[in-house]
Amino acid sequence: MPEGAVRPGEQVEAAPAPALQRLSELVRRVNSSTDTADVLEEIVHGVCDVLGYGVAAIARLEGDTLVMTAVAGPDDVRRQILGRRTPAAEIMDEYRQADRWGILRFVPHGRMSEARITAAWIPDFEPDADDPQAWHPEDTLYAPLYSATGRLLGNMAVDLPPGNRVPSLHERELLEMFVVQAGLALSNAQQREELSEQLRLGSTVKEVAQAGSQPGLDAILADACEAIHRGFDAVQVWIRCYPDDDAGSSVAAGHPRPGLAQSPVAALRADLAARWPTADPIAVHISDRTSVLSAESLARLQQMMTSVGAFHVAVVPMGVALDLLGYLVVGLNGTRGHLGTAELDALTEIARELGRSVQTARLLETEQRLVSELRELDRYKGELIATISHELKTPLTTIIGHAELLGELHEHRSVEAISRNAERLNRLVQNLLDYSRVQDRLASVRERVELVETCRSAVDLVALLAETGEVEVVTETCCEEVVVTGDPEELSLVVDNLVSNAVKYSRPGGTVRVEITCDDAWARIAVADAGLGISEADQVHLFSAFHRSSNPEALSIPGTGLGLAISRRIVESHGGRIDVDSSLGRGSTFTLALPRRFAPAH
Ligand code: ADP
Repeated sequence: MPEGAVRPGEQVEAAPAPALQRLSELVRRVNSSTDTADVLEEIVHGVCDVLGYGVAAIARLEGDTLVMTAVAGPDDVRRQILGRRTPAAEIMDEYRQADRWGILRFVPHGRMSEARITAAWIPDFEPDADDPQAWHPEDTLYAPLYSATGRLLGNMAVDLPPGNRVPSLHERELLEMFVVQAGLALSNAQQREELSEQLRLGSTVKEVAQAGSQPGLDAILADACEAIHRGFDAVQVWIRCYPDDDAGSSVAAGHPRPGLAQSPVAALRADLAARWPTADPIAVHISDRTSVLSAESLARLQQMMTSVGAFHVAVVPMGVALDLLGYLVVGLNGTRGHLGTAELDALTEIARELGRSVQTARLLETEQRLVSELRELDRYKGELIATISHELKTPLTTIIGHAELLGELHEHRSVEAISRNAERLNRLVQNLLDYSRVQDRLASVRERVELVETCRSAVDLVALLAETGEVEVVTETCCEEVVVTGDPEELSLVVDNLVSNAVKYSRPGGTVRVEITCDDAWARIAVADAGLGISEADQVHLFSAFHRSSNPEALSIPGTGLGLAISRRIVESHGGRIDVDSSLGRGSTFTLALPRRFAPAH
């Protein structure tokens, strides 16, 4: 039937007073109430009570689904259709097949698809075959509810019209008035929701930005997680920052389950890096089979979602300029619905804020670390100057004293004292030179070094000292050659130092064992003596520069306390390690382990 057509014999009636009165009440309520559910209820009941329809129902559009929100009619019908979800596309299809009755849409029986008939609620009665205007159970009358800007907000459907006849023009006009009110109520609700959403999202972005002023990355991430959790009504939020070589800051936070963020989604970094600097959130549903993310990331994320009861998550990359610094995940439950455009935009903004905060916090951490390193360096410099001055002063005083004596008496003992102390000074200066060389070394020599030979040379070097001290030195080796890659001169310095210490701190009659062993990966040299030994307290600082045992017997033996500090630096720069096993009065074993294949350090 053409739009607005009046059927033959139809009379133009005036609207009944109760209908108008109810309408005017409705208009007032629609414009003043903020309880949308209440207003929609009133509209559907008005349609039934005042206009005489058997059933009236309003569905609201949520995402791309129409959800039946308010129903007036018999209880069993209400129970059946309340909360029912219909894809909006199906209803749109029906609109296209309908006759246009002003703002109403009428689909006469016979035109509706079988699928829709099965899905829709169809009243159970026999149509009056004698009346051409009789309502048929499969007739459908509804009205799309649009916003002022033409956006579909919902749908109103009516059934069992008054007198069970196709509504007259006048009845339709009255129905249209209720439809207009329903549209207005939804439009108002939508505006209110948008406004409060804007406020909510705006304040969440602000809270995350404010979290950036917390001291330390830990506190920043924890506060941000909490704010996002609140603002998005999420079931779980977690943030992971990729570790930064320059700053060893902690990298993960989660709320309400902080532990979740500790387990990384390993493949995600490559997935996000491939897209970066595109910072759009990536939506993942618990039942997704495919995703823009790799299958590995998808499976791992879905596993984590299951553990926290999240039906969908948004994964948002976090970074600054070209640097991808980590990601943020917001998990939502099943009733919460998909994230809308405004929410996704807010998440992008939040991730941008977080990226800035992470970068600033890390810069600050690096700065603080550098400051404390500089302080330590300053303290160490002072200590170094004090120790060196002291070490230089003692032999110099002796030299000066004996030189004066020599001038007066030509004393033979003074010549000996002078050369002994000059020798001591010379050793000290040589050690200092070695120490500063290994400390400031920029590049290192990497050559073939044969350790059996290195040990033999070291033993030869101490032969005289050993003989004087009545110490026997024996060498045991697992094979004829043990080869490593490194600096031959530096490694000789280490072995010489260990062997000469073992002899120096042995008692007469003692034996020093130099044992060389190796496997595929490591070469080891153990230098063992049964001499003075080192107390546990002294072992703590053994490898620090200028440290000498507090044991008076050891202190009486000349030394600078630099040899082991130099040795440790050299060994570590070769990718190896040096350890000591010692007990006071029993002897010591120093073990040097070097990797067989050590990559050149440039
Ligand atoms: P130096 O021997 O020139 O003093 P080192 O750095 O080589 O310097 O050794 C530091 C200190 O460790 C020594 O002064 C000594 O007290 C102790 N020490 C080193 N090796 C041994 C050892 N084999 N037995 C006992 N004490 C040792």
